[in-house]
Amino acid sequence: MSAGALVLVGTPIGNLGDLTPRAAEALASADVVCCEDTRRTGKLLSLAGIERRPLVVVNDHTEEREVPAVLARLARGDRVALVSDAGMPGISDPGRRLVAAAVEAGHAVEVVPGPSAALAALVVSGLPAGRFAFEGFLPRKGAARDERLAEVAAERRTTVLFEAPHRLARTLADLAAVCGGDRRVAVARELTKLHEEVWRGTLAEAVAWAEERRPPGEIVVVLEGAPAPSPAGDEEVRRAVEAELAAGATPRDAARTVAARLGVPRRRAYDAATSLAADRPAPDGG
Ligand code: SAM
Repeated sequence: MSAGALVLVGTPIGNLGDLTPRAAEALASADVVCCEDTRRTGKLLSLAGIERRPLVVVNDHTEEREVPAVLARLARGDRVALVSDAGMPGISDPGRRLVAAAVEAGHAVEVVPGPSAALAALVVSGLPAGRFAFEGFLPRKGAARDERLAEVAAERRTTVLFEAPHRLARTLADLAAVCGGDRRVAVARELTKLHEEVWRGTLAEAVAWAEERRPPGEIVVVLEGAPAPSPAGDEEVRRAVEAELAAGATPRDAARTVAARLGVPRRRAYDAATSLAADRPAPDGG
């Protein structure tokens, strides 16, 4: 009996040409394919020329209850492929619970990486991509939305958000309110499809554009990170160092503490500390 494995398979986000040969092979050789929608995945298999495989629905409603059946299949040596409607399973899509359960039960979990709208939008946005935060969909309303918007506004890394087209203008307006209108943003829509478009500008411009255009289709918003806080001024550094020295710290310790707290170079804090220490009267009054 071959060893069972749960195989996470990335599928195209719009363009069938993005189905990799490995993805096709993983689907063709699977004993069963777990998918969100049997019609959609059935169509993908047939367009890719893959013989129909047994399909099991794994969506937000069924994932939990399908776990035992999938684990039983893995235990008897089946290869179970997991796909979502598009992109990578587990990214704002079902999959996380199945993966966690398979890992927990000691089964092999493999991945056949494919497209993901989040990464595609990030790299095409032109915004810094070295470090980024992925937010998925924002909560739709209430305190949960306000709190998340505040977190996004404070985030220093580029932030990637999914949004439905009919909520785009509202979300951009909310982002402009918390981040200010000058923050740069890219709106990537219909990536890899006929009407692919990447709009780039400031949040203020984006609000006007979205309200006028009401762009349809699938959309990812990529938001520039919050600017670095302006460096502390000389007077602020001097006062902080003075307080440390007054509390009994040595110039060295005062410099280390102040540099860490204010985010300034330690040398700068140390220079302030030594000059202040030189001005202070010696303990014996001499
Ligand atoms: N798991 C998927 C992935 O890895 O790309 C994401 C699934 S999430 C439920 C669907 C959202 O992804 C859409 O609402 C949209 O925000 C974004 N999306 C999917 N395909 C897209 C495309 N071709 N262009 C732009 N955004 C897309």
